[in-house]
Amino acid sequence: MDQTEKQSDKKERAKERREKRRQEISLLRSIPYSGNQKWWSAETVAVVTGANRGIGFQITHQLALQGITVILTSREVAVGEESAKVLQEGGLDVAFHQLDIVDDESINSFCAWVKEKYGGIDILINNAGFSLNIGSENSVEAAEKVINTNYYGTKKMIKAAIPLMRPSAQGARIVTVSSRLGRLNGKRNRIYDDDLRKQLEDVDNLSEELIDATMTKFLEQVKDGTWTSGGWPQSNTDYSLSKLAINAFTRVLAKEFSSRPEGEKIFINCYCPGMVKTAMTGWAGQVTPEEGADTAIWLSLLPDQAISGKFFAERREIHF
Ligand code: NDP
Repeated sequence: MDQTEKQSDKKERAKERREKRRQEISLLRSIPYSGNQKWWSAETVAVVTGANRGIGFQITHQLALQGITVILTSREVAVGEESAKVLQEGGLDVAFHQLDIVDDESINSFCAWVKEKYGGIDILINNAGFSLNIGSENSVEAAEKVINTNYYGTKKMIKAAIPLMRPSAQGARIVTVSSRLGRLNGKRNRIYDDDLRKQLEDVDNLSEELIDATMTKFLEQVKDGTWTSGGWPQSNTDYSLSKLAINAFTRVLAKEFSSRPEGEKIFINCYCPGMVKTAMTGWAGQVTPEEGADTAIWLSLLPDQAISGKFFAERREIHF
């Protein structure tokens, strides 16, 4: 077998593995949660960001189908209300509120409303995000916007929600929709500066300051035009870095949360939904939005959730 044949054989086997896992997940999704697994009720409150379409809408739908009260949020009021109406008309307990994760005022008024109306949050799903790179195109023109939403906006939303996360025996849950593109040790898409990568890998010493400093350094290089030789990921560079940053922040918070006493635990994890057919990918990919939502639901509802600070794909742990 020559090199090209070997490569195409490898690709074929990877495709077969993916298809097999899709079938397994589809089977797992058809198994209902049993009574003793169900720690939640109609009083359980979940918040989903960027839920007017795509994966976020499906996460909202599937959580509501489990009998949870779900707050569908969207930065645009009219589209958000319209999306919520579709689910409400299906008899589901879905409320709507405006929320733009890059806007402090919007976050504050959302949090005040949740506190007043529901008293707190049990599950927070950070789904809002975007990429401006399609396929192999890798412009970082809008790097600031992408990083500001996917990393700083998500971080801001999590920080604002922490005081609202309700104490409970099973623990509150935070799940972030991230991407394998943000892996530190991706085969094709990694940080090439070994020292920086090791620092970002070192979970015991990882800090929010280091993550912020990494983003600042990248954005400065974008501004002065030196980013191409900066050792950053080679494809979807700004998007990959934004997801790398939010993954790292997940680990920082998990460490911080681990010292919380029993009854006040918050479990935080992130996952990659695969390449999902949504507006963000120009409807390319193999995964439907319903399937892309699956690991978020699974992580949010885990019956014995002692898992925190981990990265998942298709209900399995993967490396950061
Ligand atoms: P969509 O483009 O369909 O949905 C993105 C959602 O995020 C929209 O509702 C959008 O709102 C919202 N959003 C963007 N910026 C903000 C903001 N500042 N405040 C609130 N909401 C905002 O894409 P997907 O469903 O595919 O993406 C959802 C998540 O999944 C993203 O975080 C994405 O990075 C992640 N992901 C997607 C993959 C894929 O293959 N599709 C792969 C890996 C990760 P609006 O409608 O107003 O623009």
